[in-house]
Amino acid sequence: QGSKLYTAQPAATSTLLPEFSLKDRVIVVSGGGRGVGLTQAEALLEAGAIVHVLDRLPPPAEGSDFARVAARATGELGTSITYHHVDVRDQKVLNEIVGGIADKEGRMDGLIAAAGIQQETPALEYSAEDSDKMLGVNVTGVFMTAQAVARQMIRLKQKGSLVLIGSMSGTVANRGLICPAYNASKAAVLQLGRNLAAEWGEHGIRVNTISPGYIVTAMTAGLFEAFPERKTAWPDANMLKRLSYPNEYRGAAVFLLSDASSFMTGADLRIDGGHCAW
Ligand code: NDP
Repeated sequence: QGSKLYTAQPAATSTLLPEFSLKDRVIVVSGGGRGVGLTQAEALLEAGAIVHVLDRLPPPAEGSDFARVAARATGELGTSITYHHVDVRDQKVLNEIVGGIADKEGRMDGLIAAAGIQQETPALEYSAEDSDKMLGVNVTGVFMTAQAVARQMIRLKQKGSLVLIGSMSGTVANRGLICPAYNASKAAVLQLGRNLAAEWGEHGIRVNTISPGYIVTAMTAGLFEAFPERKTAWPDANMLKRLSYPNEYRGAAVFLLSDASSFMTGADLRIDGGHCAW
């Protein structure tokens, strides 16, 4: 009898608590062409949002993951996801595109800034160009994307929520992972988030960061090929003893962009399986 309590499944038609709804909210997702960004974009669509993706990948082809999500959005989910080809380091184009989205939709409600790059090079071999490139995308690109979106929220006199994707690498040194500039860039994302939250709070704009642990995506696939021992070492470095998958960051994105987190700003949501040292 009692076990029924534990085996009962929610009804297939169950809905989210209303405060998690993103119905008709206009949300920009940078780096949403694939990986974590695209997975989070799909979750936002499921919660009712209208999504605009900014990515520098070539426009998505038929049969791509993006095309599948787009077909689901306009079909089953009754909303839309639009792809905009842009490099987030190009401030002028970024402002034009985000301004155009706000004009077309008549509102601007949120951002996930997931566009980011990784490069492994021993510190002594790092060039100034490599370091500038990393910080240019992961810090300045994130900053300028947040600025472009916040500018439209303020122009439209709207409150909103910005989510910047950092990394646990912003607060821990990853032994065996050679990416000093990446870790520095992710530490900067944390502090950027807190300061933007302080500056834009008076406009009702919330800014939070998500700091993921290791995720199985195209970004990490290359790292595993080069160093197969990481396949066991990395899972061993967290309490759950495994890597994570992009879909394990869906709920956090919906939570932080929705009214469910209405009093949360300047915070970091660390999702790393309890990453710890031996
Ligand atoms: P992916 O490389 O799979 O996706 C990132 C997307 O962002 C790609 O489409 C990429 O295009 C795009 N992008 C990169 N630079 C720019 C740019 N200048 N302008 C526009 N688009 C750009 O990465 P993930 O999904 O794995 O990572 C998403 C975010 O999560 C990143 O910020 C990453 O640092 C962070 N993260 C990832 C972890 C992981 O283990 N995977 C762990 C912790 C944090 P292109 O391929 O052309 O570069």
